[in-house]
Amino acid sequence: MKGTVLYGPRDVRFEERPEPRIEKPTDAIIRISATCVCGSDLWPYRGIQKIAKPTPMGHEYCGIVEEVGSEVKSVKPGQFVIGSFFASDNICPHCHAGYQTSCQRREFVSTAQASILRVPLADGTLVATPGPSEDLIPSLLAISDVFGTGWFAAVAANVKPGATAVVVGDGAVGLLGGLSAKQMGAERIIAMSRHESRQRLASEFGATDIVTERGEGGVARIKELTGGVGADSVLECVGTQESMMQAILSTRPGGSIGYVGVPHGVELEGEKVFYAHVHLHGGPAPVRRFLPELIDLVWERKVNPGRVFDLVLPLDQVAEGYRAMDQRRAIKALLRP
Ligand SMILES: [Zn+2]
Repeated sequence: MKGTVLYGPRDVRFEERPEPRIEKPTDAIIRISATCVCGSDLWPYRGIQKIAKPTPMGHEYCGIVEEVGSEVKSVKPGQFVIGSFFASDNICPHCHAGYQTSCQRREFVSTAQASILRVPLADGTLVATPGPSEDLIPSLLAISDVFGTGWFAAVAANVKPGATAVVVGDGAVGLLGGLSAKQMGAERIIAMSRHESRQRLASEFGATDIVTERGEGGVARIKELTGGVGADSVLECVGTQESMMQAILSTRPGGSIGYVGVPHGVELEGEKVFYAHVHLHGGPAPVRRFLPELIDLVWERKVNPGRVFDLVLPLDQVAEGYRAMDQRRAIKALLRP
């Protein structure tokens, strides 16, 4: 079996790897139908997040079950399944509360850019669907992380019908955060983006306004667009100091911020946060909570989140997928074994 391994900054290799096998009775083995490169994969790819040794990559996946362990009851060989990037038992107190990415038994799924994948805690993690037609596969794959994460950003930002929502970040998660806000009934969706192709997609997904300014200028523009008030809901989908402060300062008193960009070097000033008077909620998106609902939206063709994949490559060209995203030639690369 071949899989993707990151050896160091900008050194991605597709190479022979041990074939995954059932290790625990709660495991499933799936044959990958499609996987992809995540914006968060670029942190170690660029060397910003250090890796100690060659590291297998990939945490977004959908595919066909090949084999299940003796205790697995909810999925069976031959079924098409989608799972989240954290395996979860879906029965512990944190799962019950809807925070499956904090599951007491969670395990990160980290070897999905390969042809075959072992998924732990299969009963709690995987959701089966009827076999999809080819054109639905990108959208079903998107649910596995990027759409689920954008959806959580909108949920955490408490987007309500009629609300004004701001999306900070024009990566795939930010774009799908905008689509999610639209589904939740936001009346005004302000996308912050400087890239024309991303602005177009944001508009297609429902953005009503585009703001190109950043930092203080960006905050001033949001205030101007909202009559000096600020936004009801802000989706922070980047994870830098600038993006986080931009989100906090763009939110109206009493408003909410959903932050899903993995923070890198973010330090919040207590006093600024105190006087901002905002709700701050985020973290690794509990995608498992939303899987059934998002699968239905895709099956009913009410949304087309797969539009974020603007590059499709055979899996053995995964290195080009990383390069294209690193150089911002592609929003997101889909990989087919
Ligand atoms: Zn759990």
